[in-house]
Amino acid sequence: MDQSLLNSLRVVALPTKTNFRGIKLREVALFKGEYGWAEFSPFLEYKDAECAPWLACAIEAATQPRPKLFRSTINVNGTIPAINDEKEISQIVDLFPGVKSFKIKVGDDTDLDLARINRVRSLRPDSAIRVDVNGAWTVEQAVSFLKLAGELEYIEQPCASIEELRELKKRIDTKIAGDEVLRKATDPFALDLSGAVDILMLKVQPLGGIKRTHDLIDHHQLPVVVSSALESAIGIDYGLVLAGSIENLGYGCGLATGSLLAKDVADIPIIKGQMKISSPTPNFDGLDVSMERFEWWKNRIMRTAELL
Ligand SMILES: [Mg+2]
Repeated sequence: MDQSLLNSLRVVALPTKTNFRGIKLREVALFKGEYGWAEFSPFLEYKDAECAPWLACAIEAATQPRPKLFRSTINVNGTIPAINDEKEISQIVDLFPGVKSFKIKVGDDTDLDLARINRVRSLRPDSAIRVDVNGAWTVEQAVSFLKLAGELEYIEQPCASIEELRELKKRIDTKIAGDEVLRKATDPFALDLSGAVDILMLKVQPLGGIKRTHDLIDHHQLPVVVSSALESAIGIDYGLVLAGSIENLGYGCGLATGSLLAKDVADIPIIKGQMKISSPTPNFDGLDVSMERFEWWKNRIMRTAELL
């Protein structure tokens, strides 16, 4: 990668408002190129090979012109982590004004999962509910959960493998969205998703950027939802650009996760359930990491760049 991109590198640590997949401090690397700021933020435990598409995406964001847009405001969904305290759930729900759907993390404990779903339903009776299982269940577990859960917009990655998803799909009416099955695949173009997945979950960084994501949409020919990975406003804005560049976008997108951060490098407000593409300029005040963490990220980027 170009040295000038590395020269602009900043690494920030963003505190979260609530425990989200075990994270209380989200570290992200940002660098700037001809076409603006870009984010590289694979989670800390990811090995270099898994980080490669994330870096390809960041380099694309910094160095390539933005695609043609079909819209500049995007419908977003609320995201509810696997929290159980009633008061905390209502505080999190309030972070998402006007959204027409909520994605709720489930999978650990059916009673607590159902209580969480019902709590959100009672707070926002007009919003659709979708759940994300992150591949935690067997086919049997997914079938029994769906008998209890009431109406869902879709269920995201209920089981880990394509074979299980295909078996499950024969037994349920609820739509299935595929996330990890695509994002963690060695070659997402080689997958046969027929009869297994109704909706594709698209995250621009792990899928290697906007151009490659469009190639995947063209290849798989399924309805899509654009989602995110607890990114800063810079990564979120790039996800909004992806969402804006997709002609047929029927579902609200999971791009409002910035609301779960206590501090961010920029603010992209949710207005009546929508967020706007804005190419924000980051404000780094008080967010830079220690020199040691900066060097860790810089080395990670240089190692990953060797794999591109
Ligand atoms: Mg997911």
